[in-house]
Amino acid sequence: MALNYRDFIHPEDEIAIQRLDSVIGFKTITKLVMNLIKEQRVRSECLTEMIRLSPTQLPKIYNLLPPICQKFGITVPEFYLQSGDCNAYTYGDDQNAIIVIKSGLLNQLKDEKAISAVLAHECGHIFCRHTFYKTVANYIANSANLLPLGQVALGPIQLALAYWSRRSELSADRAALIYSGDSESVIRYLIVFAGGSAAITKYVNMEEFAAQAELAQKIHSGILQKSLDISTNIIQRSHPFPSERVYEILKWEKSEQYQRLRAVLNDQPFEKSCQHCNQTIQIQAKFCRFCGQPQS
Ligand SMILES: [Zn+2]
Ligand SMILES: [Zn+2]
Repeated sequence: MALNYRDFIHPEDEIAIQRLDSVIGFKTITKLVMNLIKEQRVRSECLTEMIRLSPTQLPKIYNLLPPICQKFGITVPEFYLQSGDCNAYTYGDDQNAIIVIKSGLLNQLKDEKAISAVLAHECGHIFCRHTFYKTVANYIANSANLLPLGQVALGPIQLALAYWSRRSELSADRAALIYSGDSESVIRYLIVFAGGSAAITKYVNMEEFAAQAELAQKIHSGILQKSLDISTNIIQRSHPFPSERVYEILKWEKSEQYQRLRAVLNDQPFEKSCQHCNQTIQIQAKFCRFCGQPQS
């Protein structure tokens, strides 16, 4: 089955991206950035500053990417290694996206499955056509401070983009889960974002961290309900907090939408008939939700 971004896009991502179009000045800004990031310019930046990976250039890293692209049905984008902190990103426009992985991330993660999950997250951004808006968000965040009155002029656009950018991460994490097949590899990279190098965080108790994420989410949404939280700590962030991402991915992993998608992608049945009342129930159900009888 060919995947469609609608199979997994986070609903808040979809709403936020629609709202962007109605922000005054957004279309003008995107045109401006589109001219600035012309394909040649993006490529020359990467080619001069970074190492382009290929089947013959650091193949151990490069070879992780093509199978992910195959799963999502996208062409393999240019893939670069850049010196720097624990991070990876896609850059450019939607048709010519580039993936960059930073050395800090490889150093800190070390685990191939978790690195693949990060690359699947980046491919998720490409698949959902996030790349161009992510580039615009990044560009504005970096240049608003440089322009006279830039903060004031770009303020509403910057905040709307930063909000969407945080929501888009949740869709990309879902892509990482679809590729990895289990949430462990996704949580593994989120734990590194939260607590640092795998040399230290490898032994983190995953269940306890998941429970922490749930508690953090409860408190966090309580605060948001009581007061519109406009602290710059949140509204200018490009990414949600790791705990929110862990909470969201675990919730989605249990959802019917994901279970159905996983079954379809693996050519497995998703539903069966109850052995007692013949109603259609989920294949994994231990009890029938109609007659309550146990299933063997
Ligand atoms: Zn991302
Ligand atoms: Zn039944």
